[in-house]
Amino acid sequence: MPHDLPKTYDPAIIEDHWAEYWVREKLFAQPTPPAQSTQSIPGREAAVRLDGKSDGQSSFTILLPPPNVTGHLHMGHMFEHTESDILMRWRRMCGDRVLWVPGTDHAGIATQMLVERQLVSEGTSRQKLGREAFVQRTWEWRRHYGGVILDQMKRLGASVDWQREYFTMDENLSVAVREAFVRLHEQNLIYRGAYIVNWCPRCQTAISDLEVFHEEQSGHLWEIRYPVIDASGKDSGEFLSVATTRPETMLGDVAVAIHPEDERYLNLHGKKLRLPLMNREIPIVLDEWVSRDFGTGAVKVTPAHDPNDFALAERHSLPSINIMDDTGHINSEGGAYAGLDRYAARKRVVANLEEQGLLAGIKDHVNNIGHCDRCKTTVEPRLSTQWFIKIQPLADKAKAAVREKRIRFTPEMYEKTYFEWMENIHDWCISRQLWWGHRIPAWHCAECRKITVARIDPTACAHCGSKKLTQETDVLDTWFSSGLLPVSVFGWPNFDKSNTPGAPGPSHLGTGEGIKDRADFDAFYPTSLLVTGFDILFFWVARMIMFGCWFAGDVPMPDGSKRTLADSVPFREVYIHALVRDANREKMSKTKGNVLDPIEVVKQFGTDAVRFTLASMASPGTDIAFNIARTEGYRAFANKIWNAARFLFMNVDRAAEIGITVDPAALGKMPVAEQTAPLEARWIVAELNATAAKVNQSLENYRYDDAANTIYQFFWGSFCDWYLEIVKLRLDFSDTANKAQSKAALTTLVQVFETALRLLSPFMPFLTEELWHAVYDGHPPAKSTALTRYPQAIENSAAADALAEMNLMQSLIVEVRALRKEIGVEEKAVVPIEIRIDGHLKAVIQENAEMIKRLARVSEVLFVSAISVGHSKHSMAECDVAVVYEKKIDAAAERERLSKDIAKYEKILISAERQLGNEGFLAKAPAQIVEGLKKQVAETRRLLEKAQGDLDSLLPE
Ligand SMILES: [Zn+2]
Ligand SMILES: [Zn+2]
Repeated sequence: MPHDLPKTYDPAIIEDHWAEYWVREKLFAQPTPPAQSTQSIPGREAAVRLDGKSDGQSSFTILLPPPNVTGHLHMGHMFEHTESDILMRWRRMCGDRVLWVPGTDHAGIATQMLVERQLVSEGTSRQKLGREAFVQRTWEWRRHYGGVILDQMKRLGASVDWQREYFTMDENLSVAVREAFVRLHEQNLIYRGAYIVNWCPRCQTAISDLEVFHEEQSGHLWEIRYPVIDASGKDSGEFLSVATTRPETMLGDVAVAIHPEDERYLNLHGKKLRLPLMNREIPIVLDEWVSRDFGTGAVKVTPAHDPNDFALAERHSLPSINIMDDTGHINSEGGAYAGLDRYAARKRVVANLEEQGLLAGIKDHVNNIGHCDRCKTTVEPRLSTQWFIKIQPLADKAKAAVREKRIRFTPEMYEKTYFEWMENIHDWCISRQLWWGHRIPAWHCAECRKITVARIDPTACAHCGSKKLTQETDVLDTWFSSGLLPVSVFGWPNFDKSNTPGAPGPSHLGTGEGIKDRADFDAFYPTSLLVTGFDILFFWVARMIMFGCWFAGDVPMPDGSKRTLADSVPFREVYIHALVRDANREKMSKTKGNVLDPIEVVKQFGTDAVRFTLASMASPGTDIAFNIARTEGYRAFANKIWNAARFLFMNVDRAAEIGITVDPAALGKMPVAEQTAPLEARWIVAELNATAAKVNQSLENYRYDDAANTIYQFFWGSFCDWYLEIVKLRLDFSDTANKAQSKAALTTLVQVFETALRLLSPFMPFLTEELWHAVYDGHPPAKSTALTRYPQAIENSAAADALAEMNLMQSLIVEVRALRKEIGVEEKAVVPIEIRIDGHLKAVIQENAEMIKRLARVSEVLFVSAISVGHSKHSMAECDVAVVYEKKIDAAAERERLSKDIAKYEKILISAERQLGNEGFLAKAPAQIVEGLKKQVAETRRLLEKAQGDLDSLLPE
C-alpha cells in the first residue's frame, strides 16, 4: 500500500527517526565554498536578506551561543534554539548559504567546581591530585558527560552543522586564544597589577563584577572607638569612632579618613590613632570623598579589602595590608587572629573590642552583599595581583561599530543598555585562579623577575636568557576564549601569518595556500546574526564585538584591501530574545518549583508542538508565558494535519485505481489556479499566497508569533475546516464522466498541501518531514523538506475576487447553520433556503449552490425577491437568507426541550459573568480569551431570549 502512514500521529516515533536521519545524512553541513563563489542555486526563489549582499548566494551564518559543557537543556535554551532554528531553516529554504555553528564552552569555574565535588565524594581533592592530574581528570569528565546538551539538541532537530562542532579548548581555538593574548600584550594592552577584585573563597579565584550577584541581607553596623594619641605617642583619652559592616577588616586598617571641612573633627587634623587589637599607629587623613552624613563621618581605610579605600590609599600613598588568604581565613598579617575563618575572626574581634571598652555601639543594618554566581559564597573584596586588558581602545572601536549601525540590536532598546555599559567600562580582569582553562602564556623568570610572554613555550627568559622559568599559574577568564569565537571558529589566526609582527607582509595572500586557509573566514565572517539572551549581553556579546572589531580589523579583505569597521564586526545584527516564564508569568526558578523541563514536555506532546507553542508567542521583547494547555492544543493541530494527510492519501489511492494520478512535476512550486477553476480552488490558492507573503514578512521582522499564527489559521481554518470539506464534492472517482474535474481537484489539493507543508516545516520540522516524504511516496525530489524551496507568494490580480466570492459563500453557510440551530432544525434534516440577493453575486451563489447544499445541509436554494412572511431571516451586507422549515411540534416534548435549554443557557451565563467580574482573571487572561468570553455571553443571551420567546408562545396550550 502506497503512502504508508500510520493511523495515528505519534511524535515520539517519527521524531526519533528524522532526528537521527538528519544527523546521519549530514543534511545541515555547510562545506567551505570555493573562494569568491558567485554560483547560485538554480531555480531558487527570491530571498530576502539582512546583509544587503547581492551575489548569487549570500551566506547566512550564526554561532550558537555555546552552552556550558556542564549544561543540560532548559526551557530558555529550547526557546533560543527554536527561534534560531526557524530562522535558519527558513533562510536555507530561501536559498541562502546557511551555516549554524554549534559548540560548547569549557566553562572554567562551573566545570572545575563539578569535578572538585566528584573528587570530594571520592574522598580526595583537587589539591591532593595536583594540577596535571586534575586537568586530565577534567578532560575525562568532559569526554564522558560533556556532550549531554548537544545530544539533546540533536534529538530536538536543531539544524546546525555538526561537522563544525567545536569545544573552546580545542587545539585550534587555543591557538587563537594565545595569539590574542600575545598580540594584546605586544600592543601594551595587557598589564599585571594589584587590584581589588571580587574574590570567591570557595572557588578560590577572582571573579568579574558580572559574575557577582547582590542580595540584601540584614546584618549589623558596628561602631568602634579608635584612641587618639598625643604627640608623645600616648593615648590622649580622646576617641574617634568609625562605623563598619565588616569589623574583622580593621586588622588591615592603615588610616582613618575624615572630610577636611567636617567641623566636628577640626581638632584632629594631623593627629594619629592607635589601631585597637593590632596596636598599630595609623594617621588621620583628610579626603573630600568621605561622606559627613554616613555613620560617624569618620571612615576606616582598609585598602586591601575595599575598592574605595584602595583608591583613597592611592591618593594618599598609603600602604595596603592584605589580611586574608585565598580561603577567606585571616593570614599572618592579622596578628592574634591568624588562622581564623573570616566570620570566626569577626566574632572574636567584636568580643575583644567589647572587652576593651572600644565598642561604641551595634546597629541593625541591611547590607547589600555580593555572592559568587557559581557557588553562592559571599565574595570578599580583596587585593590581589591579576592580569588586565586596557579595555578603552577596544571599547572605542566596539562603540563606533554600534554607533555607526554596523551592528544593529533587536529590540532596539538594547543598544542603549549596551552604550550605558560601554561608557562606564573598567579594565577587564582576565585572570582566574583556576586550573581548568587556557593557561596564561606568560613565564616568570626566577633570576631577573621579569615576565616573558610568548606564542611558543619559551625555554629561556627573553630578558636575561635565564632558563629558570615557571609558567604563570592563572588561567584566562572563560569569556576571553568565547569572546574570540566569531574569529577563531573560522580559522583565525592560522591563515593570518601576515599580521604577525615579523612575518612577511600581506602580499602572499590571494595566491596559493593562503586562500584555502582563509576561505571559511572569507565566506562566513562577519556572521549575519546572533540570537541570544540579555543576560550575556556584557559577558559575551560586548566582548565579541570588542575582540571581533579589534582582531578581524587586522585581517585584509579577500582582495587584499584593508578591512573596514563594517566588515570587522563579528555579526551584523543581534537579536535578544525574551524569557520563558511559567503560565502565570512567574519567572521559572528551582526555589519556586515551577521549572518546566523541556525534554519532559517534549516526551508528552512532541517537539513540534513545543516548538510551535514557543514560536506562537515569540516576538521581540515579549516574555513568554508557557502554558501546557497551548502545547496540548498544538499537539491537536499536528494531529489534524496528520488526519488531513490521511484523507488526502486515501483519495490519491482511490484515484489511482481509475487511472488518475498527480504528476510529481506539478509539485514543489507555488500552485496556480486557472480563472476557470472552481471557486474553492482559486480561493485556497489565493489564501496560500497570502499566507506565504505574511509568513515571509513576519519572519523578516522576527514576528515568529504572527508567522506561526498565520500558518495555523491557514491549515486549521482555511485548509481543513473549509477547503477539505468543499473539495470532497469534486473527488468523485466513481463518476468517470467527471474525470478531468476530479483530476484537477486532486492535483490542486496535493499541490496546496505539499506547499503548506514546506511553509510549516521551519516550525514543525518533524511532522512536515514525515508527511512530505509520504506525499512523494518514497521518491522525494530532495533528501529533506529542509532542502527544498520556501514558498513565496506570486502576484495574482484575480486573487481578490476569489477571496471576496468565497467570503460571501462562507458567510452564507455560517448564517444558514446558525439559523438552523435557532429554529431547531434537526441535525440531519436537509431543508430548502430562501435567498434575497441583488446583482452579480447571485451568479456566485448559483454556481456554488452545491457547496451550500453540502456544508449547510440544504436541499434547494430558492432565490426570492423578498423573504417569505413567517420565516425568520438573517440579513447580511449583500443579502438576506432564511431557512424554510415547518416543524411538527410535540408541545410537551418541545416545552421540556426549551426548559432544558433555558436552564443550560442560564448556567453558562452565570459562570461566564462570574469570570468576567473577576478582576484577577481579567488581569491574567489573554485578551482573546476575554474577548471570546464576551462573545459567548452575547450569543448565549440571544439564544436564551429566543428560547424564552419560544417557550412563551407554547404556554397557552
Ligand atoms: Zn564561588
Ligand atoms: Zn630573566
